[in-house]
Amino acid sequence: MKIKDVMNGGWPLFSFEFFPPKDDAGAISLFETIANLKELRPAYVSVTYGAGGSTRRKTIDITKRIKHEIGLEAMAHLTCVGHGREEILPLLDELEQAGIENIMALRGDPPQSESSFVPHPDGFRYADGLVSFIRSRKNFCLGVAGYPEVHPEAASKDADLANLKRKVEAGGDFVVTQLFFEPRDYFDFVERAGKVGIKAPIVPGIMPVTNVAQIKRFTQMCGAKLPSPLLAKLEAVDGDPKAVAQVGIEHATRQCQELLRGGAPGIHFYTLNKSHATRTILSSLSPS
Ligand code: FAD
Repeated sequence: MKIKDVMNGGWPLFSFEFFPPKDDAGAISLFETIANLKELRPAYVSVTYGAGGSTRRKTIDITKRIKHEIGLEAMAHLTCVGHGREEILPLLDELEQAGIENIMALRGDPPQSESSFVPHPDGFRYADGLVSFIRSRKNFCLGVAGYPEVHPEAASKDADLANLKRKVEAGGDFVVTQLFFEPRDYFDFVERAGKVGIKAPIVPGIMPVTNVAQIKRFTQMCGAKLPSPLLAKLEAVDGDPKAVAQVGIEHATRQCQELLRGGAPGIHFYTLNKSHATRTILSSLSPS
């Protein structure tokens, strides 16, 4: 199933993102988490692609297993980091042969050892190049990344939006946003995107906070702001994991409610391979 074919169906779609675990124990726990979340009936789940293509094999294998063993629609992430066209083509062939129909096409972040992104000589400098390449060769449904608070490397807010437009025009079917904490940032972004003619659905990406140090690190890397009242609440309970998770869940639940009320086409959950927060938030969003 192509994700674009179930979007715009008039009801919100929920999707869950996972990352490939480092070892066998992590893999067992990941598949328990996915099995646990299956009953929430996500429209699809996605599997990230590690820095520098480091998880390439695992990303593809896990995506296939989710689709064929668990029976959920699955999307593989793919980045430009360290890959030339000659390497990307066989990956696309393999995904196609495995019946995977959806790819999240990204530039990727530079490996930790490098301060800026250096494209592969036979590869792509920006994600729009990867999107065009895949579109010209294959018939995947393609997701692309959007940044309500602007990508940290962008020359300006408008330049970043112009880039998103290029990605969509190159063949991006839908947009998933970077994590953010203020629904206002999403609504402004969607409005600005509409004004420049971006018509693809824009799905908000939500990461429920479960660890204070971790979310500080993530937000610093991706340029998202932790609102001061949320940060103060988190810091007040830092050291008590249950209380931190509770604050994170409450905030994310309010965010999701406001986003859906305001017309967001669904919610993409950055699960960090855990099920509790996503399950609790989704149960509060159900009409029952
Ligand atoms: P691009 O769209 O190429 O943009 C990168 C930067 O270049 C932006 O600042 C943009 O404004 C600028 N730019 C683009 N085109 C031009 C141009 N022509 N001239 C000048 N500037 C330009 N990372 C991973 O490594 N693996 C993953 O699995 C992964 N999954 C993600 C999923 C989502 C939903 C999101 C939001 C992000 C994900 N990331 C992942 C992180 C992502 O790789 C980084 O944010 C990366 O820095 C940018 O990727 P991009 O595809 O948005 O790049």
